[in-house]
Amino acid sequence: MKNLYIFTNTSAQSHALADTIKKELESNGFNVTDKFLPETEMVLVIGGDGAFLKALEHCGYPSLPMLGINTGHLGFFQELSPYDIDPIIAMCRDRKYVLQPYRLLQVEIQKGSKTIKGYALNDICLRDVGGSVVRLKIAVGNNFVETLSGDGMIVASSAGSTAYNYSLRGAIVDPRLEALQLTAMAPINNTVYRSFTSSLLFPPSLDVKVTLVDRDNLTIGIFADGKKIYDEDFDLMKVSLSDRIVNVVRGSDYDFWSKVESKLL
Ligand code: NAP
Repeated sequence: MKNLYIFTNTSAQSHALADTIKKELESNGFNVTDKFLPETEMVLVIGGDGAFLKALEHCGYPSLPMLGINTGHLGFFQELSPYDIDPIIAMCRDRKYVLQPYRLLQVEIQKGSKTIKGYALNDICLRDVGGSVVRLKIAVGNNFVETLSGDGMIVASSAGSTAYNYSLRGAIVDPRLEALQLTAMAPINNTVYRSFTSSLLFPPSLDVKVTLVDRDNLTIGIFADGKKIYDEDFDLMKVSLSDRIVNVVRGSDYDFWSKVESKLL
């Protein structure tokens, strides 16, 4: 492996670290670019989880090893710290790492004859961005499940269960368990509206199908890993686990539950 690409978030600390790592790698015989190229063999991401998600989108969700170096806050995807310069070089040189595969979420939004597609590692979120209640008819597979009224909903992968899903009181799911989790945002429960108050967890063979109950005066936004990808009404939104896989570089001592304990408690 020779060709590496470094993706950096906008902080001065990340840029300074990128310069240091680039120099070290070049003196070890690597070609390091600041553009993602067809010949890129590994991507180094300097930043937090947010930067990791942006890097994936920027590179078109490649299946190459993605090595995260944490200059952000949480760093669930980021495996090394900025002080680990020698381990960073050793990982690239000796390839002594484990690849953790994650299946991406896929969203398909249909309106008339148009279909818009998107991918996400963490979550797909549908919410009203104008402060109104949205009413959504939700089916899992081919079965109607509920009419949800509230701020909106998210569908999270297991990898994304510790992100927005967790803030909405969804369950933390070990990423070795492939599952989709649907969590409502501020669901209304009264004598008029009834929505589930817990998250719904289901297997990767099923998809979530969402239709809008009231389509007038809606100001909805659909977000893939926090990035707005659609903001009009639609006929059908489908979220499923795709066959596309991204590979996150992990050290041999990586343990999901140790990360959960150290980052979230
Ligand atoms: P962002 O500022 O890049 O990320 C928001 C926070 O979520 C950051 O602290 C980030 O960690 C953390 N995060 C991202 N992925 C995570 C994961 N898999 N496990 C644990 N924490 C994770 O925000 P953004 O660019 O708008 O959206 C990116 C993600 O943020 C979305 O996919 C969504 O899950 C999450 N988000 C959360 C909330 C909420 O909790 N209320 C609201 C909107 C979006 P770092 O500090 O390491 O970057």
